[in-house]
Amino acid sequence: MNDVFKYRAPTSRAELFGMLAAHGEGAKILAGGTDLLVDIRSGLVRPELVINLKKVEDFSELAWSQSEGLIIGPATTVNDVLHDAKVRDSYPLLADCALTIASHQLRNRATVIGNIVHASPGADMAPGLLCLGARVQIASQRGQREVPLKDFFTGVKRTVLSHDEIVEAITVPTSTARSRGSYRKLKRIDGHDLALVGVAVTSTDGAVRVGIGSAAPTPLLIEGLTDEDPADAVVAAARDAIRPISDLRCSKEYREYMIEVFVRRLLEEVR
Ligand SMILES: Cc1cc2nc3c(=O)[nH]c(=O)nc-3n(C[C@H](O)[C@H](O)[C@H](O)COP(=O)(O)OP(=O)(O)OC[C@H]3O[C@@H](n4cnc5c(N)ncnc54)[C@H](O)[C@@H]3O)c2cc1C
Repeated sequence: MNDVFKYRAPTSRAELFGMLAAHGEGAKILAGGTDLLVDIRSGLVRPELVINLKKVEDFSELAWSQSEGLIIGPATTVNDVLHDAKVRDSYPLLADCALTIASHQLRNRATVIGNIVHASPGADMAPGLLCLGARVQIASQRGQREVPLKDFFTGVKRTVLSHDEIVEAITVPTSTARSRGSYRKLKRIDGHDLALVGVAVTSTDGAVRVGIGSAAPTPLLIEGLTDEDPADAVVAAARDAIRPISDLRCSKEYREYMIEVFVRRLLEEVR
C-alpha cells in the first residue's frame, strides 16, 4: 500500500515513455486529475508514481487536417473542445457532449482523453465520439497502434491499454464532419450531475448511428441502421444492445424507458 507517491512532469514523449516502462503498474498518468485524484483520495488507486503529461510538448494539440480529421491531444481539455471554432462548425455534437460535463471550472481541467480512458459507462464524451467514428491512437516505448473507439472499452473502467501505454490522440474522421447529430443526458437534477443515461444519434450520408452511455458495462455503439429504418426498428436495435442495471441513481426500467424516449426524439431531430 502506498499512501505517498512520487510526482513527475516530463516535457518530452521519450522521457514519459521511459518512466512508464520503468515503473509498470506502479505508475499512473495524470491529465486533469478530476478522476484520478478522486480515486487516489478514496484509496481505489495507490500509485508509486504520478506522471503529469500536461507539460509534454505538443500534447495540448487540438488540430484539424483534411487527411486525419480532428486530432484531440492528451492535454486538450473539455472546454478547449467546447469552444473550438472547428469543432462547433464541423462536429457540433462533440460540443453538445462537452457542455453536459460538470461545471465550467471542472471542464477547464478535465481532458477529453481522460474522460475516455477512465472508461466510466457514463462518460459523456463517449456516445458522441462513438457515433462520429473516433479512433484511439495509442503509444508507448514499444511503438504505436490504433484502435477504433468502439473496441477500446473492455469493461467498467477497463480498456485495451497496457500499463506502459498512453493515448496519444483521439482522431475523428473527416467523413463524419457535418453529420447531423445530437446528445441528450438524463440527470436527477437540473444542475451538474452524472448521467442516468446519455444518448447520441447521428445521421451521416444516410447511415444512422446511436451511442448510449450508462446502459451497459461500457459505452455502446449501435451501427448498421439507415435513414430509411422506421423509428421502431432503431429503438428495437437499441433495446437489444443495452444491459442497464438498477443502482442508487435509478432503476433499470427507468433507464430502458428513457433510452427509448431519447432515441425517438433524437431521430426526429436528426431527420
Ligand atoms: C465533480 C465532478 C463532476 C464530474 N462530472 C462529470 C460529468 O458530468 N460527466 C462525465 O463524463 N464525467 C464527469 N466527471 C468525471 C471527470 O471529470 C471526467 O471523466 C474527466 O474528463 C476526466 O479527465 P481528466 O483529465 O481529469 O482525467 P484524469 O483524472 O487525469 O485521468 C483519468 C484516468 O485516465 C488516465 N489517463 C488520463 N489521460 C491519459 C492518457 N492520455 N493516456 C493514458 N491514460 C490516461 C489516468 O491515469 C486516469 O486513470 C466528474 C468529476 C468530478 C470530480
